Amino acid sequence: MPKIVIVGMGIGGLGAAFKSLKFVPDAKITLIGDELPYVRHKLRLVTQGIDIKVRTSHIESEVEIIQGRVTKVKREQKEVVLENGETIPYDYLILATGSHPSRSKRIKGSDKALGFRRLEDVQKLIDESPSEVAIIGASFVALHVADAARGIGAKPYVIVRSRVMRKALEPELSEEIQNRLAEKGVEFVKGTPKEVKDGAVVLDDGREVKADLIYIATGVDPNIALAKQIGLDLYEGWVINADQHGRTSDPNIFAVGDNAIVHDFLTGKPMYLGIGTAASIMSLNAARAIAGHKAAMRVPRYQKDVFFGGIHMTSVGLTSVEAQKEGFDADRVEVSGNGWGDKAYIVYDKKTKRVLGFSAVSKDDVKWKSIDVLLTMMRRQPITRLGIEPS
Ligand SMILES: Cc1cc2nc3c(=O)[nH]c(=O)nc-3n(C[C@H](O)[C@H](O)[C@H](O)COP(=O)(O)OP(=O)(O)OC[C@H]3O[C@@H](n4cnc5c(N)ncnc54)[C@H](O)[C@@H]3O)c2cc1C
Repeated sequence: MPKIVIVGMGIGGLGAAFKSLKFVPDAKITLIGDELPYVRHKLRLVTQGIDIKVRTSHIESEVEIIQGRVTKVKREQKEVVLENGETIPYDYLILATGSHPSRSKRIKGSDKALGFRRLEDVQKLIDESPSEVAIIGASFVALHVADAARGIGAKPYVIVRSRVMRKALEPELSEEIQNRLAEKGVEFVKGTPKEVKDGAVVLDDGREVKADLIYIATGVDPNIALAKQIGLDLYEGWVINADQHGRTSDPNIFAVGDNAIVHDFLTGKPMYLGIGTAASIMSLNAARAIAGHKAAMRVPRYQKDVFFGGIHMTSVGLTSVEAQKEGFDADRVEVSGNGWGDKAYIVYDKKTKRVLGFSAVSKDDVKWKSIDVLLTMMRRQPITRLGIEPS
């Protein structure tokens, strides 16, 4: 009976527990986290009084759940140590410790800004009931904060340095989503933040964006304290290095979710995703590897979101800009309408015609089309398979 200990109860950790139950049914599973589980991408719904907790009662007879913090891992003894000193032995350890909001060194005082990641971050918004909220960054998390701020009747100011969701959307779609959000009362301020001070974000040209609350959403940094402490191999020094199964430089330790890299099947290179859909597949791969399976499922970038109840964004694989950066001779074709979304693009490789990505902004959900693109991309099939003739 192998002992599997999982640290972290987010999508990665919970996923690892569910998948271990399925693939390693004789395992003794212990799930440890400093937060009880909730649906992180639904944080903003807390402003509407919606309970986002994930119930675990149905697995509690088979999985030992401990609310607490792991402060140490003893690799030689194969044990984790909790903050109360209790030790728990493992045969396999799955680190699913997630990430935390980045604080840019280029922005003086950025540690004064709030992140939007944990229940207490949204609770602060509810408790303080601000009139104006400044948000540094134009990532999808920044738009979640804007949505939550509007939800409590505050005016959100989103400070954009380049363009909205630039890694996920074609340039025209960044503009499209920005226009649609502006119609809902989100004010976009183009500029480069230089300093966070009490009640304002100062931009490098001297302008100030005044606000009662200031959030920062410029990306995340993986939680790697435990990995560092035990000397696991890190990729470029900032995120846990792992193979396609999530196995780290210690064969008995896996890393899944926001704390680890994945291997991009389009480029063959290590890539950092930091999204829940990836965390879920990574946890599946780790559980299957512990059970002795040789094959790992590919981890694509697949992201869907809806803002203000009716502004859908969908992003699969690479944008044309990212594809070119990765060395593809990439082109794109606009496929707006006919079920693809109000404004949508498919990116493909000019030589092989293989699909490399898709992004859309629409009033409707384009889930089925996006899954069709995803499968076409993962099967390395050409764009014509989608009924689209490249120009
Ligand atoms: C507002 C918002 C919206 C999002 N929307 C989307 C979306 O639409 N689609 C999508 O795919 N992704 C989305 N994401 C990203 C997604 O939520 C994350 O990728 C996902 O939560 C990662 O899961 P994880 O299990 O790796 O980490 P986490 O969810 O961060 O969970 C890790 C847990 O481990 C705990 N932990 C860390 N260290 C220890 C320790 N030493 N001991 C005990 N516990 C520890 C942490 O406190 C945390 O509770 C969104 C994120 C946010 C914040």
